[in-house]
Amino acid sequence: MNRMPEPTKPEHLSGGLSVSAAQACVVGKITPLGAEDVAIERALGRVLAAPLYATRDLPPYDVSAMDGYAVRAEDVSAAPTTLQMVDDIKAGDIPHTPIATGQCARIMTGAPVPHGANTIVRVEDTRVLADGSIEIAIPVEAAADIRVHGENMRAGDVALPGDTEISPGVVGALATVKAARIKAYRLPRVAILANGDELEALTAPFDAAKIPDSNSYALMAQVQAQGIEPVLLGIARDKPDELAEYLRRGLEFDVLLVSGGTSVGVHDHVRPTLESLGVVLHFYRVEMRPGHPVAFGTTAGGTVFCLPGNPVSSMVCFEQFVLPALRALSGHRTLFRRTVTARLTQPAKSRPGRVEFVRVTLTHTERGDYAATPLGKQSSGDLLAMARADGLLVVPAESKGLAAGDRALVQLLEPGAFQENAGLGEGA
Ligand code: AMP
Ligand code: MG
Repeated sequence: MNRMPEPTKPEHLSGGLSVSAAQACVVGKITPLGAEDVAIERALGRVLAAPLYATRDLPPYDVSAMDGYAVRAEDVSAAPTTLQMVDDIKAGDIPHTPIATGQCARIMTGAPVPHGANTIVRVEDTRVLADGSIEIAIPVEAAADIRVHGENMRAGDVALPGDTEISPGVVGALATVKAARIKAYRLPRVAILANGDELEALTAPFDAAKIPDSNSYALMAQVQAQGIEPVLLGIARDKPDELAEYLRRGLEFDVLLVSGGTSVGVHDHVRPTLESLGVVLHFYRVEMRPGHPVAFGTTAGGTVFCLPGNPVSSMVCFEQFVLPALRALSGHRTLFRRTVTARLTQPAKSRPGRVEFVRVTLTHTERGDYAATPLGKQSSGDLLAMARADGLLVVPAESKGLAAGDRALVQLLEPGAFQENAGLGEGA
């Protein structure tokens, strides 16, 4: 018996993954790259691949936290009182004169507290009398302004655990433990390829019929913001053979970003060409706007993202999928942009079924929360609105749109602010 074939939905209409599921797919397929030796001068922004141990006690002995006088607490429990100065101790000195009852030593910040003394009087609370003795103007408790031996670190302790993100403070801590070189996770090597017959290279002569290739540079900057210097492969035309040549080169990198040509138009050859080169695609549509036609694939040693050609879509998809991948490869645990909750100053339209990422500016309100104002028409070609955005406001998939006054999550597009989970929730 002949059966009618099941009617199949055209590919571009059938459902894609949710943003959360697509992010989980990306993160689940990525493990940090190996470790390499990095000089302290280049360590900022990297992630420690192994713990670092303290090599000495800090402070190495009880030291003064203030410029002032080292005294015996029982001598200064009542004020005013007068003490005789018997020593003058600078940071780095080793004091030899013990402090007896009725005596004190002038002491500088960071200098060792002499034997016999057990508290510090700040210089502001003292006066030098004509005979050279020191008047203490106020009563002082025991152990005031003393930094205790080993209170910051003890030799042999883990000073910095593995997987520590290296901030300027951590660089200081590296120097404290004398780590001139460290083991850090390697940064991914990233290639960027633009695709489309209509694209005009940055340095090509002006042609009114062409579209300037902005994606290569916006993506370049997004990658650079992660401390990674990408390689721009240029523009591949919409010809499968030429495209295959470029893609083959790009697949030699840890991460290949391709923009344009990823949809289902007759000139969109990126996905089938990648598959012909052995790339396994894990998804190629995500229920989001802008950015529906976004694909993610892997090879034995690399990762490929096919980003939509529209400039804003390309950048928004980078934020959701490429950024966490680059950070995971580099050993970070905080993979996603930090989010805040903001109150909309104007309505944000949305069609249900897809998460909508709305470009917004943010201001602090007098109530102490954030106010988010959508920028422009929210067209996916409006790169200037993206350029002015402080954040991406997330309208959940199930929402039919938000009203002025409604609260929503905003991903902050500011440098250095990341968190472990995307926080988009089940509905995203
Ligand atoms: P596509 O995804 O190839 O269908 O492209 C969608 C839209 O994005 C088209 O209007 C393209 O001209 C534009 N586009 C594609 N690639 C780029 C690029 N590298 N820079 C700027 N616009 C682009
Ligand atoms: Mg195209």
